[in-house]
Amino acid sequence: MTDSTGTALMDHICMCNAHFTDGHLQPLYYPSDHPTHPSIFKGMAVLLEEHGYHNACTLHAECKGFKCAKNDTGEYVGNCCCRHILFKLPDFKNVPSLLTSLCDLYGVQALFLPKFSPELNPIEQCWGFAKRTYREFLPSSTIKDLIQNTHEALASVPLVSIHKYVYSTYCLTLTHYFHLDLPIVHSVMKIATGRVSMAVKQHGQHADTKVTEGFHQMP
Ligand SMILES: [Zn+2]
Repeated sequence: MTDSTGTALMDHICMCNAHFTDGHLQPLYYPSDHPTHPSIFKGMAVLLEEHGYHNACTLHAECKGFKCAKNDTGEYVGNCCCRHILFKLPDFKNVPSLLTSLCDLYGVQALFLPKFSPELNPIEQCWGFAKRTYREFLPSSTIKDLIQNTHEALASVPLVSIHKYVYSTYCLTLTHYFHLDLPIVHSVMKIATGRVSMAVKQHGQHADTKVTEGFHQMP
C-alpha cells in the first residue's frame, strides 16, 4: 500500500512473546515506558540472561559462520555463543515452521523428507529421466538449442512414469514415517488406488487420474 504521494506505507510488526520453561510469557521488547529503551528489542544476550544464562553478555552473538565447536562424536561442546544457546531453548526449537502452520490451518499433515534422501522425492527421478533423454541429443551449440533441448527432455518424461515415481516414493515415505513394512504399504496403496480407480470409471473421468487421486485419499 502507498500513501497519496506514492510512498510505500511501512508498518512495524513486533514478534510475538516467547515463553519461559515454566510457561510464563517472555516479552521480547522492553516496555513502552522503559527509561532508555522504550519498545526496543531486548537482544539475544538479555533474553538469555532472563532465562538464567548470566554470562550471556560475555559471549559472542554467534561463532564465526555459525560453525560451533563439536567434539569427536559430532556433538556440540557447550554454550559457545548466544545464538547456539537460543537455538537449543525449547521455546525456540518448538516453533512450527510457516509451512507447518499453514498446513495445520487447512487440516493437512506435512511430512518432511529427511535430508539427503533423493530416493524419497519423485522429482529427482523425473530429473534423472529428463537428463538421460537430454544426453541423447546432439550437444547444444546455442542458447536457443539448449532451451529447446531442455524443454523436449522435460516433456519426454511419460505421465505413467511420473505416476510410478510418485507411487514408489510415497510408499517409501510411508514406510519411513510410520515404520511399516514395504509389502504392507504396497497392499494399502493398491486398495486405495483400486477404490479410486473404480470411482473414476463410474464418473467417466480419465484413468490417468487414478493414482494421483489415490494419494489424496491416503492419510
Ligand atoms: Zn557457537
